[in-house]
Amino acid sequence: MFKSWKLGRIAGIDVFLHPTFLLILLLPAAATRLPLLLALFGCVLLHEFGHALAARRFGIDTADITLYPIGGVARLTRMPRAPGAELLIALAGPAVNLAIAAGLYLTLGLFTSIGAGRFVVELLAMNLVLAAFNMIPAFPMDGGRVLRALLGGWIGRARATTFAASVGRALAVGFGIYSLLTLSFFQVALAVFIYMAAGAEEAGVLAEEARRRGGGERDLDWSAPPGYRWITSGRGVWRLAPITVSTQATPGADHRWR
Ligand SMILES: [Zn+2]
Repeated sequence: MFKSWKLGRIAGIDVFLHPTFLLILLLPAAATRLPLLLALFGCVLLHEFGHALAARRFGIDTADITLYPIGGVARLTRMPRAPGAELLIALAGPAVNLAIAAGLYLTLGLFTSIGAGRFVVELLAMNLVLAAFNMIPAFPMDGGRVLRALLGGWIGRARATTFAASVGRALAVGFGIYSLLTLSFFQVALAVFIYMAAGAEEAGVLAEEARRRGGGERDLDWSAPPGYRWITSGRGVWRLAPITVSTQATPGADHRWR
């Protein structure tokens, strides 16, 4: 749509600002609370770095992080398919906001003594809201990924994705109708975004799963510990099994070492 502006490079990851970010300057709060809004987006940026650095631990690079008026997006070069990795990467973002809130709480006395108590209390509350909002168990929120990761090992990744996306769409429709009735047009835009993002996430994952099956690719790209491999017992249930090497000669097979 529009070209994003590069803010800089942090921990090896390019950080961009989307031009629509300037829309937040139109918010009624922007005139009086600009420092608070900027601090909030600093926390959003740290949230995205939570995802990016957790992903790096699983060997997944982040192409870039872009800040939009409705939040940030970290573009991972690939999506973790192992439920454990997806779970930890998804939880890392909201965990950053909880850590910031805890840090602000512990230093509240210090900030109050220099007259910044109200600012810190508001920023603390916003971080709690960010963590709670992102943990809503629906796509495209982090909670949707948590839900998929938890359900994925049980009903399979594709069905877990459809379920999390359906919850996301239902919530978006409810939130959108409520926002229309209360004439909160910024929230209506947010509801439309959530609805579209839920569908996009679902379409992307279903296409990827179909491609994997169609291409005859092994269903897993998870790394197993040395000496172990993943084996399936059907319906998306996987377990680790030690790799055993048979030393018995099979009739008709050629067992010579070369
Ligand atoms: Zn997140």
